[in-house]
Amino acid sequence: MAEAKKVEIKKIVAAKTMRKLMADHFYELDQAAKEGHPKVAWCTSVGPAELLRAMGFLVYFPENHGAMLGATRMAAETIPSANAIGYSPEICSYLTSDIGAFLQGRTPLSDAYEGINTIPEPDVLVYNTNQCREVQDWLAWYGRHWSKPVIGIECYRGVGEVTDVHVAGIAGQIKALIRPLEEICGQRFDIDRLREAVRLSRQCSDLWKEVLETATAKPSPLTFFDSTIHMAPAVVMRGTQTAIDYYQELLPELKARVSDGVAAVEGERLRLYWEGMPIWGRLRDLATLFLELRTCMVASTYANSWIFTALEPDDPIRSMARAYTELFIVRSDPYKEKYLEEMINTFGVDGIVFHDSKTCPHNTNSRYGMPQRLQERLGIPSITIAGDLNDLRCYSDEQAKTQIEAFAEQLAGRVGVSS
Ligand code: SF4
Repeated sequence: MAEAKKVEIKKIVAAKTMRKLMADHFYELDQAAKEGHPKVAWCTSVGPAELLRAMGFLVYFPENHGAMLGATRMAAETIPSANAIGYSPEICSYLTSDIGAFLQGRTPLSDAYEGINTIPEPDVLVYNTNQCREVQDWLAWYGRHWSKPVIGIECYRGVGEVTDVHVAGIAGQIKALIRPLEEICGQRFDIDRLREAVRLSRQCSDLWKEVLETATAKPSPLTFFDSTIHMAPAVVMRGTQTAIDYYQELLPELKARVSDGVAAVEGERLRLYWEGMPIWGRLRDLATLFLELRTCMVASTYANSWIFTALEPDDPIRSMARAYTELFIVRSDPYKEKYLEEMINTFGVDGIVFHDSKTCPHNTNSRYGMPQRLQERLGIPSITIAGDLNDLRCYSDEQAKTQIEAFAEQLAGRVGVSS
């Protein structure tokens, strides 16, 4: 077994800017919710954020708040309150930890940002079921609580090739949102403002893609664990200049690491791919474990999910429809396997870690034989770790550590690097 060596997670300098941007984001939302202006829209992570921005809403993403509940491990205390009102421990632990926190009058925002006492009350809640039906149920609970409208898009599932039929169907649903949004925000829809929001969103996406692609370098300048932090502006600020400015700061720092040969994982000897949701409450522990094993988690489906190369300012609504339908999570298994094959080749991956996330079957791809098919067809080894995005009762530190160490040892022997 590889001997554990104590190492430090390398800091990314741009993180300081990001912390400031996130603070600004939440203070702006807090103030808008208190003053009633600008209007606040809640939006699921791949909901029509560009449309909401074009119509002057400030946009709040409850999944981001769910991730904060996981990362701060507050989720363990809040999930039972949602269970108590009938939301099963088996369903999305973002949903249960978030609703539970609200019922308890708590939010990690209060600990992070002085003066913020609660999440921002919405004027409208907008979903896209491209991740799952849970997001619709989640927003529906708040819609009932505040008597606010809940509107959205129902997407296709198991999509192989994205066709014009898919695009027309989703584009029609996006257009149908315009009238109710006009009534809520009190202003007319302006196609040029939407073009601008789509342009900004696409530019953010292109920069985020470039950021992630720096990890094709050997050694890699960043890890999956870094990307779960630095993706925040792409998640909550897509469609704004602020997000673009941030990645224009981060990207040169990572490129400089590449040209100087600076590794995120000192002495990188193995390269892995993370498939599935992060285990938010164990990011630091896992990052440290992989550092000790001199193994870099170079890429992930999760961080890639905020790359929207289909967005096109000249054809904003149809291109939004295409971008939302091209998302990995709604695709067929053959498509997903092809995609993973491309990732394995592009990033020079030695093995895959599948995370079987107990309460998120939608972002879990190890339950229907995919790891075995990839092993058979491509010879790529993998392990599957049982866990959860937020509910740490589903995760065993000891078991995961044993599995990961054994996997690293097996891979080291396979690719012929020292233990
Ligand atoms: S995709 Fe998974 S983690 Fe995300 S909201 Fe849906 S069930 Fe929850």
